[in-house]
Formats: sequence, structure tokens, C-alpha cells
Amino acid sequence: MAGLSIAGARKSFGAHVVFDGLDLSVREGEFLVLVGPSGCGKSTLLRLIAGLDALDAGEIAIAGERIDTLPPSRRGAAMVFQSYALYPRMTVAQNIGFPLRMGGMPRAGIASRVAEVAALLGLGALLDRRPAELSGGERQRVAIGRAIVREPRLFLFDEPLSNLDASLRATMRREFADLHRRFGITTIYVTHDQSEAMALADRVALMRDGRIVQTGTPRTLYCDPDDIFVAGFFGAPPINLFPAVVAAVDGREIAIELDGATWRLPAPRSGVAKPDMAITVGVRPEAIEPVASPGALPFPAAQVRLVEWFGGERHVVCTGPTGDFVWRTARDEEPHPGDAISLCADPPRVLLFDAAGARLR
Ligand code: ADP
Ligand code: MG
Repeated sequence: MAGLSIAGARKSFGAHVVFDGLDLSVREGEFLVLVGPSGCGKSTLLRLIAGLDALDAGEIAIAGERIDTLPPSRRGAAMVFQSYALYPRMTVAQNIGFPLRMGGMPRAGIASRVAEVAALLGLGALLDRRPAELSGGERQRVAIGRAIVREPRLFLFDEPLSNLDASLRATMRREFADLHRRFGITTIYVTHDQSEAMALADRVALMRDGRIVQTGTPRTLYCDPDDIFVAGFFGAPPINLFPAVVAAVDGREIAIELDGATWRLPAPRSGVAKPDMAITVGVRPEAIEPVASPGALPFPAAQVRLVEWFGGERHVVCTGPTGDFVWRTARDEEPHPGDAISLCADPPRVLLFDAAGARLR
């Protein structure tokens, strides 16, 4: 298989096992975003692929060729770090050309290749500057230039936008998307930011405590999560969660008591839902609507606590019998704090979880 495959990877630092038995495959040309909370093992995995650290057990292969036994320079992987790690005394041209010089390329070859890469990244006019004379975005571009100059088989990006301010982050994020569209190089992009993951990925792998909990397209992870952790990780404002109890269930239908309201939904096919079982109901803020369309599920009576105005949309924070929840709306009418409000959920977008957080479906 082309692309990258990791099988049975184990890595520990002393007694601390970061992961054990980790499998991951990335298709040729794919942009995979590895996302997860800080400390879950993302950087460690990238460093193992790049060869900056050694596996305790397992194998890593690119295009079917085992690479974890090769020295870093022969793996064909280029890594870009959050800190950029540019050489402060070298010019932009020297920074970009550094991997070629290390590889023994003749001077003239280096100059023309550096000029080509610099032009691609809009750095042509900055070749004689040193990193201290560049903006954050320009430094990031130099780091990318240094990574692509050797035409790697695999890009590894470790939180490359974390040091930039919010507006530059959005601009640079699009540059990463453009870069990938132009070169089509297989990429693993690490971030802890769920919105960055959603915006960039062909596929997302969500990691938690050294385990990959779900892999799929952004849409799959957002709309069809395997568990409550995945559901809660993606989305801002986050999914609303309500405690509930199964009132009745048969092969066709499940009835749920939600603090004063009874909701009827298609029964989960797995058959594990039983009467009296405590469950959690998840409804995303945009799956809430103010009018009862046919089949919509009415929430228990609630009151508007506050309205956050974002121009194109409003986040209406409501207080119901089980606590606060958020309705995200682009409608014109303005609810006011203190108003009584009746809201409904759109049935196909209601998610059910068992007491342990596993999805009932
Ligand atoms: P992430 O990049 O997801 O934030 P890391 O891969 O950096 O997480 O770290 C995963 C875990 O391994 C953390 O608990 C971290 O403290 C530990 N760790 C990482 N590198 C080392 C190291 N060189 N020595 C000891 N522990 C480490
Ligand atoms: Mg990290």
C-alpha cells in the first residue's frame, strides 16, 4: 500500500507508556489531521515517524517500505515544528537551503532550488533577511520552505500555527490547504484545535491518552461520533448534553424521559438500550429549533438566560430543568433574557449515549 502505515507502535518514557499497540494508516496524498488534548501523545508519534525518537515495538512503513529502521535523513519525511526552529544567524535563503547543503548538493543547484521554493511561498524578496527581521507568518513560511525543498514523501506538521495570532492563523491555515492541493504530498498535521482539524482535514484521527478513539472525515466525527468524548471534542459551542432515562423500548421505537418531556425516536439497532437505563442525550446547538415542525421533539420549558450576538448568528443560552444549554440561531427575531422559550430538537440529529459514554445506535 502507498501512503504511511503504523502498526503496533509502542513508546514509553521510563515507566510512562505513551501508547501501546497503536495502528494508523494514511493514504497516499491524504491530509490527515491528528488532533487531541495536550499530552495525549501527538508529538511523540510524529517524532517516531520522523526518526527523532525510536519505537519500543511496532513498525512504520511508507509505500510498503519499512522506515523505522532507517536514519531520519533517509525516511523521506520532513517535519515542521511549532517553534519553527530556524537558524537565527542564517538568512532566509540559507535556512531554506540548509537541508540541501547537508545533502551535499552543489552550490548552484541549491541557489536555483531555493529561488524556486521561495517564489512558491512568496518569500522571493526576503531571501537576504534573518529570522529576527521576519513576521511570525513569514517565519512559518521559511520553515515550510525548508521542509519542502527536498521534495519529501511525507509532511509532518506539529502545531505549526499555535504561535500565530488568530487572524494570521486563519490566513496561514488556508496556505496549508493550498500547499497540499498544489503538491498532494501525504501529510500528517498535528493540532489540539478542533476547528483547525475540521477545516483542514481529509480525515481526522482523534487521539486520547495514547489511543486513537475515532478516525473519519470531519463530517463523520461531528455528525456520527462513536462516543461522548468525540461528540464533545468537536463543535463550538459544544454539543448540549441532557441526562435522561429510557422509559420503553421495542424493536422499532425508544421512548426517553427527559425531565418532563417524553421523546420517541427510532430504537437503536444494537438492542442494548433497556427500560430504566440512565442515558445521556446529545443535541448540537444548531439542531435546536423554535418551531415545532412535524415530528420535532419538544424540550421541557426553559428560560432565556442570555443572548450572545455574533453578527451572522446568535448563541442563546437557555436554562432548563437540567441546567443550561445553547441554541445557535441565525433567525432575525431576538429572544430576551428572562423570556420563557419553547424549543424543539430535530430528531435525526439527536444522539444517545449509554452511562459509560458509548454511542447507542
Ligand atoms: P502532545 O504532543 O499530544 O501534547 P506529547 O507527545 O508531547 O503530547 O507527550 C505525550 C506524553 O509523553 C506526555 O505525558 C509527556 O509528558 C510525555 N513525554 C513526551 N516526551 C517525553 C520525554 N522526552 N521524556 C519523558 N516524557 C515525555
Ligand atoms: Mg505536542
